Amino acid sequence: MDRNHQDYVVENTKVEIVALGTQTKKILSISNGKIPVQSRVGEKIQITVFKPDGSPLSPETYLVKSLKQNNVKLVLDVDVVKGNTNQDKPTINKRIDNAECACNRDITVEEFKKITNTSTALSFLNDLNQQFKKLSMNRCLEKAHFIAHTLHETAGYRLMEEGLGGKSESEVYDGYKGRGLMQITYKSNYEGYGKAINENFLGANKVRIAKEKKHAVGSAVWYWLHSKSGGLTPYALNNDLIATCSLINGGYNGFDDRENYLKRAISAFNIKECGYLNKKIIATLDSYLSFEESSIAQNKSGESFGWGLWNDPLGKKKGKIKNLNEAKKGYMRFLEMTKTTTFPFGTKKEGGQIVSRKRYGYTANAAKLFAEKRLKEL
Ligand SMILES: [Zn+2]
Repeated sequence: MDRNHQDYVVENTKVEIVALGTQTKKILSISNGKIPVQSRVGEKIQITVFKPDGSPLSPETYLVKSLKQNNVKLVLDVDVVKGNTNQDKPTINKRIDNAECACNRDITVEEFKKITNTSTALSFLNDLNQQFKKLSMNRCLEKAHFIAHTLHETAGYRLMEEGLGGKSESEVYDGYKGRGLMQITYKSNYEGYGKAINENFLGANKVRIAKEKKHAVGSAVWYWLHSKSGGLTPYALNNDLIATCSLINGGYNGFDDRENYLKRAISAFNIKECGYLNKKIIATLDSYLSFEESSIAQNKSGESFGWGLWNDPLGKKKGKIKNLNEAKKGYMRFLEMTKTTTFPFGTKKEGGQIVSRKRYGYTANAAKLFAEKRLKEL
């Protein structure tokens, strides 16, 4: 950062790392501003950055921890005159200026406004940034998926509690209806979030999840990281929107709306510049990971059938633009995966008999017949 608070990237820097315990020395050449120290957790090291002319900056000592947010800040002190460095000083050839992704930092108001600019949604930004930090959701692409889904689920952060259509709360989900940005339900989730942050959201305290922004956001981030499917992080970091959508929704309701929010967030957060994502993922960022690559097509037969239904003009499911080709892919994967299984949707007892559970209104057998029929017609 220069005196006018502009940020720059200095490329091809030499860094010396001395392990203070064993006094072993290592010189690294880095080009992305990051020093790999994962194998040194627990060690105390001394880091020295060299200018291109070979002169060292003052060394910094650092205890390597496994915590993600424990950054060490090394300052390169150079004079910048009209964008050029003085003689014999490092070449500064890349201005960052907005080209930084939203990993490990707050989302700015300007960025958030590119996703949605209602005053209601904007009033949640501070709490989003705080809870992301508190619960260690640091990656730009994961924040983008989280924000896209929660904006959709709550109509732009307007609906903080579930409407029950005349029923009383004691009749549903052990007395704990949907609240907060992810509309968490059931006592076990209210209890789990409370334990995680040492607070109590049981009984009369349950309304705090809807009334206090901090907990509306915090409960959602907690659920995202700890939900029954083992957390949504790996799917979000693969840009697997088909998987994050079906794990949250059970199907693909509102898929296009979620996709639109996601696209805006990917652009607003400069995610194409993200240094943590590999090239394969960066290449998916104009939309989302294809169905063939999605984890759904690897091992989820019900959700593959769902992908067929939501893309099929005759499937009668709403929220996804119809696409015959995608419908075929979904049906085909479903049939391949269930060739040797009689009850891919699970079973239940009905009148003393074991019968198939229904998925999206279809028993396993009805789903197979429907998929076969549609594959022939499409
Ligand atoms: Zn990033």
